[in-house]
Amino acid sequence: MSTETQTDSQSLIHLDGVKKVFLTDEVETHALAGIFLDIHQGEYVSIAGPSGCGKSTLLSILGLLDTPSEGLYRLNGHPVEGLSFADRARLRNREIGFIFQSFNLIGDLSVAENVELPLTYRNDVSSAERKRRTTEALDRVGMSHRGRHLPNQLSGGQQQRVAVARALAGGPSVLLADEPTGNLDSRNGEAVMNLLSELHTGGATIVMVTHDDRYAHRADRTIHLFDGRVVDDQNSAAPADAPVALTA
Ligand code: ADP
Repeated sequence: MSTETQTDSQSLIHLDGVKKVFLTDEVETHALAGIFLDIHQGEYVSIAGPSGCGKSTLLSILGLLDTPSEGLYRLNGHPVEGLSFADRARLRNREIGFIFQSFNLIGDLSVAENVELPLTYRNDVSSAERKRRTTEALDRVGMSHRGRHLPNQLSGGQQQRVAVARALAGGPSVLLADEPTGNLDSRNGEAVMNLLSELHTGGATIVMVTHDDRYAHRADRTIHLFDGRVVDDQNSAAPADAPVALTA
């Protein structure tokens, strides 16, 4: 019988006392020192904090690329502890869409092949469905006219749009973006941030690490980390032009 609170059971991401200790040459680094966090479907969350505070470690754990040393992580209702390597990879493929600072496209695959690749690991998606989803994802980011190009024939901004399409094609529960504008000039950075905002408006759940304050504020909630702990967790202020209730 579950003793979870209603809020917890509705969380897409639920972290309960998550710690991460790295051991190197007898030095212990406490990268995460006990994270308690709930993120709900449809939220747009940015993770901020000084270099070394644990942002990348947290994102790696959320993305099932790394495992906590202690604590509990439940993703979309699935307890993650104790999963085999293969089950973890399967869950990651279905539930998580990654967007990296350096795009991470495969240079000798075309744009469309890059977007399609993660779907080829799924036995529940037919070849025709893969093509359909690839076309739809490229359409959503405005890149369907470049499907046969190679990544190095595109600008950085275009490559990042393709990476967003690849992240979207599997229909993930959450998009995890690690400094998605870090390798882009301000014009292309702005375009990618506008794309993420559009996706959020369309219902996507986004968790983004960014150093750039201009972009952190695009999210509707900002979580500040310091020394591996959440030290601040704030919803963005209501817009200045929000309607004000009038009294007679
Ligand atoms: P941020 O992304 O906020 O810059 P990180 O999550 O990369 O911070 O790192 C948090 C702390 O953990 C840092 O002190 C870093 O040196 C340490 N760390 C991160 N990854 C490793 C690793 N693989 N091995 C040892 N220490 C690590």
